[in-house]
Amino acid sequence: MDKQKRDFYQRDEEEQASFLEQTWCNNCQEVDLGMTEPQEYESDGIVIIEGKCKKCGETVVTEIAPEGDEDWED
Ligand SMILES: [Zn+2]
Repeated sequence: MDKQKRDFYQRDEEEQASFLEQTWCNNCQEVDLGMTEPQEYESDGIVIIEGKCKKCGETVVTEIAPEGDEDWED
């Protein structure tokens, strides 16, 4: 699957801050631990922000689905 790199830092600061705070870590099984080193990709219309858990250092991924179901293309 093609991943297209996007620039996370193009987002405004508030948005960046909330994405960095609102995380789910599979390893810690906890929400909102925060992430560092964010990288942003787009894949099939889904935006993926990938970083490292602030607590354990494991990779955490936040997926942002497109807004509104009508935007989905099959
Ligand atoms: Zn963690």
